[in-house]
Amino acid sequence: MPGQHAQFFGTQNLMFIGARDASGQPWASALAGHPGFITALDSKLLALTGYRRLPGDPALLTKGSQVGGLGIEFATRRRNRVNGRVTAVSAPASADGADGDVNGSPPLLMSVDLSFGNCPKYIQVRDVKLDPSQLPPPPKQPFSPTTLLAAAAAAKGARPVSADSGGRVLRGSWAELGAAQAAIIAAADTFFIATGYNGRTKTGSGAGDEDGQDVFEAGVGCDVSHRGGPPGFVRMERSAAAPDRPLLRWADFAGNNMFQTLGNLATDPRCGLLFVDWASGASLQLAGTAVVDLADRSLPGAQRTVTFQVESFVYAERGLPLAVRDDGTAYAAAVRQYSPYLPTGAPPQLPAARVWTPRDGPAVTASAASAASAAAAGTADGCGGSGVLEVECVGVSWAAEGIKAFQFRLSATPAPTSAHAYTSGQYAIFEFPPSALSPPASTPGASALSWPSATSAATAAVNKGSTVTRTWTVTSHPAATAASGVFTLAIKRAGAVSSAMHDTLAPGTKLRLRGFDGDFTAAALLAAPLEVAVLAAGGIGITPLWAVVQALAAAAAGASTAVPKRVLLLYSVRHLPEAAFLGQLRELAAAAEAGAELNLQVLLTTTAPEPATAAPAVRRGLEVAAALAGRRGGVAEARGCRLSAELLAVALGPAGVAALANGGGAAMVCGPAGFMAATEAALVEGLGLPADRLYSESFNY
Ligand SMILES: Cc1cc2nc3c(=O)[nH]c(=O)nc-3n(C[C@H](O)[C@H](O)[C@H](O)COP(=O)(O)OP(=O)(O)OC[C@H]3O[C@@H](n4cnc5c(N)ncnc54)[C@H](O)[C@@H]3O)c2cc1C
Repeated sequence: MPGQHAQFFGTQNLMFIGARDASGQPWASALAGHPGFITALDSKLLALTGYRRLPGDPALLTKGSQVGGLGIEFATRRRNRVNGRVTAVSAPASADGADGDVNGSPPLLMSVDLSFGNCPKYIQVRDVKLDPSQLPPPPKQPFSPTTLLAAAAAAKGARPVSADSGGRVLRGSWAELGAAQAAIIAAADTFFIATGYNGRTKTGSGAGDEDGQDVFEAGVGCDVSHRGGPPGFVRMERSAAAPDRPLLRWADFAGNNMFQTLGNLATDPRCGLLFVDWASGASLQLAGTAVVDLADRSLPGAQRTVTFQVESFVYAERGLPLAVRDDGTAYAAAVRQYSPYLPTGAPPQLPAARVWTPRDGPAVTASAASAASAAAAGTADGCGGSGVLEVECVGVSWAAEGIKAFQFRLSATPAPTSAHAYTSGQYAIFEFPPSALSPPASTPGASALSWPSATSAATAAVNKGSTVTRTWTVTSHPAATAASGVFTLAIKRAGAVSSAMHDTLAPGTKLRLRGFDGDFTAAALLAAPLEVAVLAAGGIGITPLWAVVQALAAAAAGASTAVPKRVLLLYSVRHLPEAAFLGQLRELAAAAEAGAELNLQVLLTTTAPEPATAAPAVRRGLEVAAALAGRRGGVAEARGCRLSAELLAVALGPAGVAALANGGGAAMVCGPAGFMAATEAALVEGLGLPADRLYSESFNY
């Protein structure tokens, strides 16, 4: 597990998990605690202490249980996943084997066999505040295995956190699902799905292992994953075979193409869903089986459709202990901003006879719930069609070899919302309906959004009849856009869509902009005065960092005191003609030399081999980099030389290195995967930059 993920989990107050019950059925669930309840003891071991389970949760967390864990920071849309096994539990599970007691959750250790980040798509922004009085005490920091033992001892004799902390808990089969549960599903814009892989199940022997604990071996792995969509994206339909029985159906959107969940379902259809009522904290865990229809694209945005048959459920009125206001009402974790990736368009109307009706109330239709949920969201920017703005291309030019700059004008109508304003470092999200990517000949009389000239068959094939989404960083400065209504992107020719942009986009072409988003912004460097900020860009990864440099220059010119005293931009390209924004960067670095407010230095490295010269490239690189240390501004070019901790240290000089290691610095990294991994390792492992001062953005989905 990379240090960044370890640090991330340490700040979470929730962890969503997937784990099996005694029969091998996966359940999606959640653990809640004070930030710090998850601690990475090292890169392969997580300790969970001082957390509370969902009341009635049937998922087993006993020694040997396979677990999938998911941390989501809803406020920033960051998410990271881990898969592993419970390797130690400090107290035996309760007698019936169900380890779902709210207050008795024993500290446990979880091995990290797999750890990876996920992109922020489909996550709605919300703030989830928990009630501290309903959570077990936070573990003592700094955390160590000794703390775990102490926490275990305390947990054994612990009194309940609060007599009513769990509220009403209902368990039942699908036949007992009622209106309260249906309302949660119908309003949902988010749920979690737990699946298992390899499906090999052995129940616990009951004989206990050497620690006197039951051993539970539940197949080879469990996973949990997030699903987000417009409110009501999970439809409740009647089963044709058993009309009283609800079937849940949802569109599976284009994701990270890793297909963990769908792959697991192909080997074992059993899965568990977790829905949360974000207004009250009520939780609804469903267990059942799911079938994936790879060809069904009938729902908006669907690449495929998943149908889930409910077998049983657990409903807890006070599942997540949301914080409570003075008047006793919960701090609703309402949506602040819907994901700009949510599909637009109304789902096909379900015939009344197909709508499932709970036994104790009227049918809750997705559209009614959607309206209610959107109203509850209050300040949300809204989703669906209202979020999309038309933008017109007003300029195209070359930014570097293989990279074109495109200028777009925001249309005045419909009026742009807050989703259509950006901050430096954020990206723009465009959607391309099928007509936009098809050759116009095949779409006679197509909308104004179609390309002005024919595009390749490969381009038409990319979206296979559905809308595709692409994301590019905004390289203009927000103030310039505010004045002119125009913003700029720099796009490198890569695959189908970027190539179509290069080949056919011209002034006059109109595109559909969903909005701007992203948390890789200049704000990370402007929060508190820093001695030094390192910006590292590989190739086209320069786009957000160029935006950040402009923001820092503007802040410095505005006499902001929070601008880093020194900014070192490391810019790595294969060869110089590929370096976009180099002219502007040279100008700013020269201005710094001449005394401009922003002290920007640029260390340019080219990785293409250089003709052999007397001195090896690495030595020459170190020599030119050393020229940057101890002076203001300036550009150094290290040809034929890759970034390394040594090169960085030489360019930073002893004072810069010390500042980085002592909390006086921060770094932002963006580029190809190999570049990012090497640069992050050089910064964190090589130079001692604290992991929480490293900000990264990957362009990979
Ligand atoms: C935060 C961010 C900022 C970016 N900024 C820039 C930039 O400033 N300049 C630049 O040139 N590139 C940028 N990219 C990369 C860009 O989004 C595209 O991936 C790139 O242009 C290649 O797209 P393509 O269609 O030409 O290639 P393809 O090979 O057709 O597409 C790449 C593949 O990646 C996946 N994919 C790419 N984008 C998306 C998406 N938005 N949603 C779902 N799946 C997707 C799809 O699986 C697709 O098949 C950025 C990416 C991210 C994530």
